[in-house]
Amino acid sequence: METFGITDRTKIYGAEVRPVPGIGFGMFATKNLEVGDIVMIEYPVIEIGHAGSIAELCDRYFSLPPAELRTVDALHCDPTKLEDAIANPQHQDNVYRWVHKKQRAGEFLPETDTHQVAWLLLRLWALFWTNCSATPNNKSGLYPAFSRANHSCRPNVTWPIEMMDGEAKLTMTATREIRAGQEIFVTYCSSMRTLPLKERRSKLMNWGFTCRCELCTSEEEKLAHGGRSLRPRR
Ligand SMILES: [Zn+2]
Repeated sequence: METFGITDRTKIYGAEVRPVPGIGFGMFATKNLEVGDIVMIEYPVIEIGHAGSIAELCDRYFSLPPAELRTVDALHCDPTKLEDAIANPQHQDNVYRWVHKKQRAGEFLPETDTHQVAWLLLRLWALFWTNCSATPNNKSGLYPAFSRANHSCRPNVTWPIEMMDGEAKLTMTATREIRAGQEIFVTYCSSMRTLPLKERRSKLMNWGFTCRCELCTSEEEKLAHGGRSLRPRR
């Protein structure tokens, strides 16, 4: 069953993840949230070093319980990152080396289609770097429910990650009043509000989308309005 990113590593309060037609998924308040209310606490399902290898990621991935495996598989994978991973000869080498090592150890059946497994692992690599967040212990962590929240240049939550009992704990807290049913927005890129629309949009191209958030839409309207007022009067 699709869990929309919620795993045993997630505690979600007053919010839910659900499909959004045409976008994929989003996180929504299920009750009125006040400033300072905790929306969600999440621990990473996979963590690797900043310079972590594909082998390290594959090892972590295959040690996940089946439900978490499915949750990770269902996350969005940026097609450009996937193309880059597939086109990178070093990544290909690493993946095939890892698969052959497992086959020699008898961990895969001999009839496993090696090329298919290799493709899945390259996709895993691209998916991880599409969704991961930096953690204070110099690692990159995959927080599946957090990954389902959409971006706004004017977010309504913060999500600091702090070390707690040796784990990189993400705490999502409301920074504005959020009414039940309203969407919860994070920002994929810090200091967005201080940048002009054009620069924000160009930064967000790294995530492969044109931002249509409240702030971008209102600035776009202002620009359009300005353009009209410059036209000569008749
Ligand atoms: Zn925006």
